Amino acid sequence: MAPGGGICKEVCESRSAFADYDVTTANLELRSSPFRKATTGVGGKHGMPSTSGVHELLECPVCMDLMHPPIHQCPNGHTLCSNCKARVHNCCPTCRFELGNIRCLALEKIAESLELPCRYQIFGCHDIFPYYSKLKHEQNCQFRPYSCPYAGAECSVTGDIPLLVMHLKDDHKVDMHDGCTFNHRYVKSNPQEVENATWMLTVFNCFGRQFCLHFEAFHLGMAPVYMAFLRFMGDENEARKFSYSLEVGGYGRKLIWQGVPRSIRDSHKMVRDSQDGLVIQRKLALFFSGGERQQLKLKVAGRIWKEQ
Ligand SMILES: [Zn+2]
Ligand SMILES: [Zn+2]
Ligand SMILES: [Zn+2]
Ligand SMILES: [Zn+2]
Repeated sequence: MAPGGGICKEVCESRSAFADYDVTTANLELRSSPFRKATTGVGGKHGMPSTSGVHELLECPVCMDLMHPPIHQCPNGHTLCSNCKARVHNCCPTCRFELGNIRCLALEKIAESLELPCRYQIFGCHDIFPYYSKLKHEQNCQFRPYSCPYAGAECSVTGDIPLLVMHLKDDHKVDMHDGCTFNHRYVKSNPQEVENATWMLTVFNCFGRQFCLHFEAFHLGMAPVYMAFLRFMGDENEARKFSYSLEVGGYGRKLIWQGVPRSIRDSHKMVRDSQDGLVIQRKLALFFSGGERQQLKLKVAGRIWKEQ
């Protein structure tokens, strides 16, 4: 073994604990990946090289992601993606040889010649992409699953809109309402406790689509506030076709907000942080509630309409 080989080995071992973790999580993801299902069993008969065989060659052995240029290899030919190369301290995770800086141009070229279906094929995307543009497409594919719009708890459920509507109803016990106008009452005792975790979600069914009305309490800088906003269960280009208004008030005062629902592709936190909704200072909210500071009692009236 070359001088310094021992050091390399030590680094590799501590690194491979890290790498093992990555492989496990990546595997979990792959097992449920529709892409996997879509390509398994394509070709591979009579000893011909199969698409799935090439596909496996293009998987980084450490993170299991598909590799993109620059693809690296060790002097023994083991390949590695550039992200993982930066993490393994110049030591091949397969044979523990010093990695150096060798590109695997042959594999990069083979990848370039491949055309693969979008990984969301089973959700209805029928496009085929050159290998290197596939990833970019998938990040924006309109068939990619949505994340659960429920906020306040980590929920990892993803799926299409009908699935998520069922999931919100069955698993999060979210209130569902039909109609494009609403009058919603938010009552909370102990309004002095403005916790980031105080939030509520109601789903409205109108124009055959679903909208999520969020109501929550949080600190905007130092100031405790309440915020109500609407998210559209669909993509941004469709969300733009709708508008909504929210009104809250009492004792001769009124706050009115008019906005465009945000797509649930935008995370709940992103919408909240951009303050794209009706923001009510707590003092005012308590005034609207009757000013006794015993209870928050807000009546939020709203309307959703379709822009022509
Ligand atoms: Zn990798
Ligand atoms: Zn190697
Ligand atoms: Zn697609
Ligand atoms: Zn959920």
